[in-house]
Amino acid sequence: MAEKIIYLDNNATTRVCNEALESMLPFLREKYGNPSSMHSFGGEIGKYIKTAREQVAGLIGAADPQEVIFTSCGTESSNMAMRGLTEPHKKHIITTKVEHPCVLNVAKHLEKNHGYKVTYLGVNSEGALDPDEFKDSIRPDTALISIMWANNETGVIFPVEQFAAIAKEKNPEVLFFVDAVQAAGKIPIDIKNTQIDMLSISGHKIHAPKGVGAIYVKKGTLITPFMQGGHQERGRRGGTENVAGIVALGMASEQALKYLDDETTRVKQMRDRLEKGILENSFNARINGSRFNRVPNTTNISFEYIEGELILLHMSDLGICASSGSACTSGNLEPSHVLRAMGIPFTAVHGSIRFSLSRYTTDEEIDYVLEKVPAIIEKLNSISPFQTELKELKEIKTSVKKQ
Ligand code: PLP
Repeated sequence: MAEKIIYLDNNATTRVCNEALESMLPFLREKYGNPSSMHSFGGEIGKYIKTAREQVAGLIGAADPQEVIFTSCGTESSNMAMRGLTEPHKKHIITTKVEHPCVLNVAKHLEKNHGYKVTYLGVNSEGALDPDEFKDSIRPDTALISIMWANNETGVIFPVEQFAAIAKEKNPEVLFFVDAVQAAGKIPIDIKNTQIDMLSISGHKIHAPKGVGAIYVKKGTLITPFMQGGHQERGRRGGTENVAGIVALGMASEQALKYLDDETTRVKQMRDRLEKGILENSFNARINGSRFNRVPNTTNISFEYIEGELILLHMSDLGICASSGSACTSGNLEPSHVLRAMGIPFTAVHGSIRFSLSRYTTDEEIDYVLEKVPAIIEKLNSISPFQTELKELKEIKTSVKKQ
């Protein structure tokens, strides 16, 4: 492994922040009681869970902390929202082609095994949805709409607040679920002022540990618990609480809220500088997804006519960690379903790299990446089997630059 690590893969997972780590340790050492116990040693743990619930509610702007239910991860939260539907006669679901597999695969499962019809909305080349197509897709028997707030691969933001309002106007009974795993802590969320019914977050994307997440379920929303068991989480999610994880998620949420301005200023500036530097120095680089309507930490760049995996390996040798496609699909050479849905040419999809920054990213790290990456790309360009195409592209880019 390289001596120094430049971690630009924060959409895959994040480093646990010191505040979250410190907050959880007592619950792994001395405060190990079970919150369901009758004795006070266990019983007093409940108050720490209560605080964590308030902290998570604070991050997403929930009116009542009781609307927050702790889960084990973003995936479980999606499963809970989608599999908990209670109206058997309503058999239509709307989602998008660019959701995370934890939504897409549940949708496919419901379609295949439970008789649901699913509308998968497409996106344009910028990664945006068409509001008219969305509105037209809503039917009287639509039970659920599941649309992500920010895309994990491109960072593109969907206007979920407006879409929830459109949906409720057309069909007031429809449930609107938002996967906000990549939005929480990156853009402001004020759920109480929206018509969104359910929203998921994941601890390890916001500097809490892996193995903890949450789902917001608006008061009065009826869903069947996905995890049946004890009375924990007021019967809405059985299983003895992951107290240390929950406390850490609470603390990480508080910190994320505190650092939100930093995300939209300093982190964004670093992302923009990284992107600009790469575009200026690699003629075959192009940005995937809207450059304006994105979370501030993410950039998805295609290096046309070369292989993303090779770029990743060369960067990894120098300690630079990024990703080609979503974390859950890397290790699998299937081209990204998100970039394909955007109509990105195959030769660009294969050379796509996602850089995702965090508040721990520094300017020096960006300098280092800008020093190393163009040389890697130049080297890989020289051994690409697409020499004619690269030459043509270079000529086009050079003539555009001159104009
Ligand atoms: N939703 C999105 C948009 C994600 O990016 C991820 C993880 O990459 C998930 C859901 C799943 O979260 P978890 O890893 O906590 O299950």
